[in-house]
Amino acid sequence: MQQRTPLIAGNWKMHKTVDQARETARQLAALAADADGVEAMIAPPFTALAPVAEVLGQGPVRLGAQNLFHEDEGAFTGEVSAPMLVSAGCRYVIIGHSERRQYFGETDRTVNLKIAAALRAGLKPIFCIGESETEREAQKTFSVLDKQVRKGLEGFSLAQLSLLVMAYEPVWAIGTGKTASPQQAQEVHAFVRSLLAEMYDTALAQSVRILYGGSVKPANVRELMALADVDGALVGGASLDAGTFSQLINYRK
Ligand code: PEP
Repeated sequence: MQQRTPLIAGNWKMHKTVDQARETARQLAALAADADGVEAMIAPPFTALAPVAEVLGQGPVRLGAQNLFHEDEGAFTGEVSAPMLVSAGCRYVIIGHSERRQYFGETDRTVNLKIAAALRAGLKPIFCIGESETEREAQKTFSVLDKQVRKGLEGFSLAQLSLLVMAYEPVWAIGTGKTASPQQAQEVHAFVRSLLAEMYDTALAQSVRILYGGSVKPANVRELMALADVDGALVGGASLDAGTFSQLINYRK
């Protein structure tokens, strides 16, 4: 079976000034120094990307952004492009987070354009999908995810997707303290992997990392990471404190 290096990714959302971000990154770099075969990433707000990149340097923690705009350059007031993120030191970018879909009108179409922009620039997109509570209760989980994946990846060739990372984040588990049960998470991750195999091929499906997101904490991280098709975590609240997040990064110890 294919070995996939687990990725523990922290989404700081709209938290931390530049000084606070630098300080947390400094603490984290020290605490994550010898994570056992686990890759770590933090996604600070745009304003803190370049300063945090300086703190992280070539150390063990990678830098990511929380969003981008799909054009590379132009008259798009307030937006930030993929080449700009690369120049600030990013290697990853979170795309299609449910908060972006819910509050900022992102759709499967804009997500598709953003993934394309990330790939053009050589950034690894963390493509987020997930069902709402109502959709789960109406037994629509798999049809919702099927649509999000097919539309989000529409038009990409196999060769383009070598940088792809996916994140399954049930909307009802984000910031709520509710976590998908291990059975619910494994079932969805296996479904997404089989969908990628159907759309592309088994080799791609086996190589893509599928992260779980939704109230991941030190108390539940081991149980989730032990699941066959879970290859890491996308973490909100528990990524803001370096001590707590380093416990997640070091879950194998
Ligand atoms: C998230 O925002 O991606 C997330 C999973 O948040 P939390 O860990 O706080 O539930």
